[in-house]
Amino acid sequence: MTKTSIQANVLKTARPYVGMMIAAGVAFGGALALSPGLAQAQTTNPEKHFDPKGNPPSMFTIELRKGVSATLPFDDKRDFEEAKKGFIAEPPYTKIMADAGNVAWDMGSYDWLLQGKDFPSLHPSLQRQAVLNMAYGLYEVLPGKIYQVRGFDLANITFIKGDTGWIVFDPLTAKETARAALAFINEKLGVRPVLAVVYSHSHVDHFGGVRGVVDEADVVSGKVKIIAPEGFMQAAIEENVFSGNAMSRRTQYSYAVLLPRDPFGHADQSIGKNVANGNVGLIAPTLLIKDDFQNVTIDGVQMVFQNTPDTEAPVEMNTWFPQFKAFWAAENITGTIHNVYTPRGAPVRNALNWSKQINVALYKFGQDAEVMFASHSWPRWGNARIQEVMRTQRDTYANLNNQSLHYANLGVTINEIQNVYKLPPSLWKQWPAHSYHGSEEHNSRGVINRFLGYWDGNPVNIAPLSPRDSAPLYVEMMGGSDKILAKGKELNDQGKYLEASEFAQPGNQPAKDMLADSFEQLGYQKESPTLRNIYLQGAYELRNGLPRGTPQRSTGPDMVRAMSTENWLDFIAISIDPRKADGMRFTINLVTPDNGEKYLVEMSNATLTNIQGEQAKSPDLTITLNRTDLNLVMMGRSSFDDLIKAGKATFAGDRKPFDQLRSLLVVFAPNFEIMPGTAATSSAARDAKAKEEPSPFQAPDLTDADGD
Ligand SMILES: [Zn+2]
Repeated sequence: MTKTSIQANVLKTARPYVGMMIAAGVAFGGALALSPGLAQAQTTNPEKHFDPKGNPPSMFTIELRKGVSATLPFDDKRDFEEAKKGFIAEPPYTKIMADAGNVAWDMGSYDWLLQGKDFPSLHPSLQRQAVLNMAYGLYEVLPGKIYQVRGFDLANITFIKGDTGWIVFDPLTAKETARAALAFINEKLGVRPVLAVVYSHSHVDHFGGVRGVVDEADVVSGKVKIIAPEGFMQAAIEENVFSGNAMSRRTQYSYAVLLPRDPFGHADQSIGKNVANGNVGLIAPTLLIKDDFQNVTIDGVQMVFQNTPDTEAPVEMNTWFPQFKAFWAAENITGTIHNVYTPRGAPVRNALNWSKQINVALYKFGQDAEVMFASHSWPRWGNARIQEVMRTQRDTYANLNNQSLHYANLGVTINEIQNVYKLPPSLWKQWPAHSYHGSEEHNSRGVINRFLGYWDGNPVNIAPLSPRDSAPLYVEMMGGSDKILAKGKELNDQGKYLEASEFAQPGNQPAKDMLADSFEQLGYQKESPTLRNIYLQGAYELRNGLPRGTPQRSTGPDMVRAMSTENWLDFIAISIDPRKADGMRFTINLVTPDNGEKYLVEMSNATLTNIQGEQAKSPDLTITLNRTDLNLVMMGRSSFDDLIKAGKATFAGDRKPFDQLRSLLVVFAPNFEIMPGTAATSSAARDAKAKEEPSPFQAPDLTDADGD
């Protein structure tokens, strides 16, 4: 791309429209009523849009679809053969119920994808991926040795047959779905005990269902081993403690969990259909893999673990089975190019290291492998095919990293790279190079974010006005809202949806509806379900306000137990209202005798800090309680005062600092407004709700229910 055409893109980066949305939101006072219309994640009639305000794909979207279809390698049907290969049986049910009584999993809600129809509101490549992900039931990966249950959750659960029992790789998100999968394989292939569980990495769709396949007592007694990469527990908990609430709200966009499952709503999540909504647990590993390569034999099965930290997850490991010439690619190589930047919010991943670790696997194991299988998607058989897919994914991650930085070194910024970076045609012609979970757009921005951060080099952007302050200026300078609305309509009518989303005017509901119309068409046009969901969720909220329904929580007792006291104290520090804290000064010693830990917690300069292993010589207050009792407070099941009454906690010294601290805590809820003017409740109502919360000391929601 020439410099001139790169600069032409700069013109697109002003964001007056979104700014005006904020101006509009302020004008509305956030008092829009919430539409009563939408129930959670139900399938509706696939012929008819679920939203009365929804539109079918425009002629521009349909034309674009035709154009892109012609460039896609539809002649290559190997994925379909591989996705079907080894099928043994499908269960007689499509729903799996959670112990709490709700539906944990409903594969039937996506049945409309199997009608053999072409859905013009779905990108043709995404429709293909969404159909591939309809695999449901028990599959043989290697006769007599390796099996997978697919379509019971976001991830696959894998069973390796040892001399006497099963070794389970990645026991899904929920106890209920994992339990159903184990029952199903035992029914079809004969009952065998689970002797070991491997967590390939620290995302919850790979460990949360562990209690569905093993009894903790058997882990404690040593009968069942739990194997994970070094650093697993910390990574499993830490990645989303501090910004958990923001992540939770943003996940509503990237996963569209509250939109109906139909051609106008949620269709797929690229690495599976969606996430199960059940009981999330965690049993700590009993064998940590510490070396780059480590041999472990269990029940006659030889395994070589390859640690691949700083790739798809902070800690992750592949596995080579030398006896079977089988390679387990964890989530490093699946049927998609993954998120390098994950829009729910997470530290940007290292695309170059990811590529290098695939390369290590290619030369260490890929030369001999006869089958490659993974925690998502379908296996690949035959050495040539395996090497082809490994190279494709290796090169795609490296290309993304190198070319994004190449352009950055030519002056392309984080605000432009999404319009500059394109997959090379040679990779575009290969399905495993397509970004379903990721996208070229948000991943290329992620690479620049990792290396250069958010600043584009323009002085105006190092510390700009907030949109709510700049928006009224834009509106005024552009000649008022009527002019902007007219221009927005003109752009929409021309099919220029991205441009319309910059320049439409949202000062009233019809204007917001117009923006929703642009977002909707952009959603239909996207190959990546992550981007599709983001646009469609935005359209929904502009039309109706925030969806009702409760996104799942993944902070069960196991997760709270696994959280360090230091992490919890750091989160408490994030939760205090800094405006109320100024001028306060106190020190609290916190002692938890059962685990021998001590913390010094200090409030000064409107800032709460803590240090482990230190104690103030003359603290204002000393709080002593066992960590097992503190867990109850962290879960919101008890309060400090209840524990004092029960004789399980003591306060020594002045109680005032505790009451002061408690009065500062803000309870976060994942229902804040993203698109201006869409909030369900006024800020006063939100504050009132926060005051009703039983325990402001509750640990944060851990939102990594998505495993992305
Ligand atoms: Zn996963």
